[in-house]
Amino acid sequence: MSEEHNERYSRQILFRGIGSDGQKRLAIARVAIVGCGATGSAVASLLARSGVGSIRIIDRDYVEPSNLQRQALFDESDARESLPKAIAAARRIAAFNSQIEVEAKVADLTPENIDSLLQGAQLILDGTDNFETRYLVNDYAVKAGVPWIYAAAVGSYGATMNVIPGTTACLACIFPDSPTGIVETCETAGVLGSAVNLVASIETAEALKFLVGATEKMRRTLLSWDVWTNESAEIQAGKPRAGCRACGEGDFSHLEGEGRPHITLCGRNSVQIHERHRPVDFGEMSERLKPHGTVRHNDFVLKFWREPYEMTLFTDGRAIIKGTTDTGVARSLYARFVGS
Ligand SMILES: [Zn+2]
Repeated sequence: MSEEHNERYSRQILFRGIGSDGQKRLAIARVAIVGCGATGSAVASLLARSGVGSIRIIDRDYVEPSNLQRQALFDESDARESLPKAIAAARRIAAFNSQIEVEAKVADLTPENIDSLLQGAQLILDGTDNFETRYLVNDYAVKAGVPWIYAAAVGSYGATMNVIPGTTACLACIFPDSPTGIVETCETAGVLGSAVNLVASIETAEALKFLVGATEKMRRTLLSWDVWTNESAEIQAGKPRAGCRACGEGDFSHLEGEGRPHITLCGRNSVQIHERHRPVDFGEMSERLKPHGTVRHNDFVLKFWREPYEMTLFTDGRAIIKGTTDTGVARSLYARFVGS
């Protein structure tokens, strides 16, 4: 390794748990971060600064002003431009570490694209905000034998767990079904940046242990912590649960995908549509939409406002429609203005 490299990472090389050998391992490490909101931003930033050689960031969303309170990789200009989070994150990382490779994938992780989006990653990091995607990641990881780290934060509470297929419990061992009833989300309960950063820090430290080969140091529990009440808990997760659907019986139903044309995002009064899978020419689309409302676009997103709705269209034809949670309404808007 060059002198410049050794100087840059000197404080990590001095740390005994990593050392010169560990730092070399980090330089050739390949990770994927699924979801780049608050948790994903913090993890991406910490891993990029620590010299992880290749980071793929997968995110389906764009930056909005309400993200800036906690999503540390984004700034006001990203929100003004509605820049896709993956793109904004890659740009910001390049400004503080140009020596690593960052791949931005503006996409919603689905059963159809998960193989190509996660291919080559030796570790998958959870930055998502929903159980549907986490079960998908869990099934993929268990089936492919790739470790992943679960992390979640809402309100003042955060939780995280390492999943090492063949060794520890998987997500489906601990949570056989996704939580039902009234589930708090960041939209309903809010979220503190400090809760996010707590779980993101723990997730990153566990990732570093894995990437430098200190697997025996990795935590074998589901850890939860509330930064407001100071309550914490740990549930044993060191061993798979007998009869687990995923890691026990090899039933990877989430990978089969029952065709998910619409997804309502994190309780925020919006519906995502991705059934078209055809590239959109933004120039042409702008002309077409102009008579019907206000249109604006950049290289990555096209925004269309027509009261009371706001549609954000991505280059692959995927759209997020704000102002409704009715998938029927969203679909008819999409069909009318974008085409079916
Ligand atoms: Zn399991």
